[in-house]
Amino acid sequence: MRKKIVAGNWKMNLGFEEAEQLIEDLIDLLENINMDTEVVICPPFPYLEMASDYAQESTFKVGAQNLSAFGSGAYTGEVSGAMLQSMDITYCIIGHSERRKYFEENDKMLTAKVNQAMANQIIPIFCVGESLPEREAEKHFQVVRRQVRHGLFHLDTHEFEKVIIAYEPVWAIGTGINATPQQAAEMHAYIRTLIAERYGQEVADNTTILYGGSCTSKNAPELFAQPGVDGGLVGGASLKAAEFIEICKSIK
Ligand code: PEP
Repeated sequence: MRKKIVAGNWKMNLGFEEAEQLIEDLIDLLENINMDTEVVICPPFPYLEMASDYAQESTFKVGAQNLSAFGSGAYTGEVSGAMLQSMDITYCIIGHSERRKYFEENDKMLTAKVNQAMANQIIPIFCVGESLPEREAEKHFQVVRRQVRHGLFHLDTHEFEKVIIAYEPVWAIGTGINATPQQAAEMHAYIRTLIAERYGQEVADNTTILYGGSCTSKNAPELFAQPGVDGGLVGGASLKAAEFIEICKSIK
């Protein structure tokens, strides 16, 4: 089912007490609003259990920012899909451009991570997006096509129907330069065409596709009003409760 979602990617920010305070502030703000949008927070691993406990008493869901490509065993420092499942984690960001860039996560590794998420009933928020040189060379459709196909199109229909896609142009992440609403709408429509070719129109119409990249409460209303934009993946602006909730409320 196509849902409206706003997910906050906290990245590697905040101490434990700051994280707890942010969650408490979010809960207070969420109590006063009634909206159809699903609100998701993706804190760092050490805070997931605390976030998950708070989530039992509120309406938000919790996602991880990463998971291991391996199932279990001698993989020092890794966190498995099964561990996330055991903490009631609903979502996991996979393929974020920072992981692709700084941790050299390639298509093969991301496929394995998607499979681990699937095996443990965790919903992947699968990120795709082109770099600035790729956009300038007009290769953005080609790049996103490769990422979507290699990362997700091995899934059968039943599995794919669970996936959330986030279009995050790399040049828009953390730069203060968001994609224009037209650029976002165009890419979301293109991704939906790819899905329709592989899985059929009905599956494409039911796939939630988020926009990410310098979302703020100022630009979110116009971005989220575009056809095919079903919400956002928000980085920096998700670290301030009031701003994040304003962004969540931007979806009409
Ligand atoms: C992100 O990291 O997914 C992101 C969209 O970051 P920001 O909102 O800070 O650009």
